[in-house]
Amino acid sequence: MASTNPAAALADDPMIEVEGLNKWYGDFHVLRDIDLTVAKGERIVICGPSGSGKSTLIRCLNHLEEHQQGRIVVDGVTMTQDVKRIEQIRRNVGMVFQHFNLFPHLSVLDNCCISQTWVQKKPRAEAEKTAMEFLERVRIADQARKYPGQLSGGQQQRVAIARALCMRPEVMLFDEPTSALDPEMIKEVLDVMVELARDGMTMLCVTHEMGFAKTVADRVIFMDQGQIIEQAPPETFFNHPESDRTKLFLSQIL
Ligand code: ADP
Ligand code: MG
Repeated sequence: MASTNPAAALADDPMIEVEGLNKWYGDFHVLRDIDLTVAKGERIVICGPSGSGKSTLIRCLNHLEEHQQGRIVVDGVTMTQDVKRIEQIRRNVGMVFQHFNLFPHLSVLDNCCISQTWVQKKPRAEAEKTAMEFLERVRIADQARKYPGQLSGGQQQRVAIARALCMRPEVMLFDEPTSALDPEMIKEVLDVMVELARDGMTMLCVTHEMGFAKTVADRVIFMDQGQIIEQAPPETFFNHPESDRTKLFLSQIL
């Protein structure tokens, strides 16, 4: 099985290091001996069958899930139970979820300002300026005064991306950001993600959008039953998958 890491050469200055990560939900061993090094600026797509542990893995990276064994280091900070450390890591890590998770009772602008004013203690005017800058970037600044419920799914997801970017993270984690969208809205969200990738953001994206993987990923990782089964640059991954499990998965989704 291939698990060579093409980023190893770049990884003198890693953004994320995961070593010997194991996690259980009760008796269920959900992540098994995960080793993963992500270089600064690297773009990774994680795919694999439902239930293979993709969400759990990326949620461990900002301590939305707690792991039991192994080491996680994000931008030089080792994850512990210490709240200050966790906060320090979370400041560097933006997360975008399948179901947007915007605050429904706050306007688009307020969704983008609240963490800046509460967590970063920025003055409101400065927070608004940053919010508008990122809302422009995801091409939705004209909707800033609306509430999430007044927007389409694609628009809400672009707001969620802008909201994460307002915290100026070093890494962006995406967990199936287009899976809950109607087909006609997928492209507007992927376009924003492609731009972000081109701007050099370090990205880990759980997605089954293989066109996106081919366009922007430096490395595609295939997970099954809590393990990394195979990882390779997209050309190799799609054209010459090694594992039978990868081949089966690709035959089902392509
Ligand atoms: P994926 O994102 O690849 O679909 P998940 O990481 O969500 O997979 O889940 C991996 C496995 O862990 C699944 O079998 C799922 O049912 C189980 N699981 C996920 N979250 C929990 C939880 N909070 N408690 C118990 N089991 C969970
Ligand atoms: Mg998932």
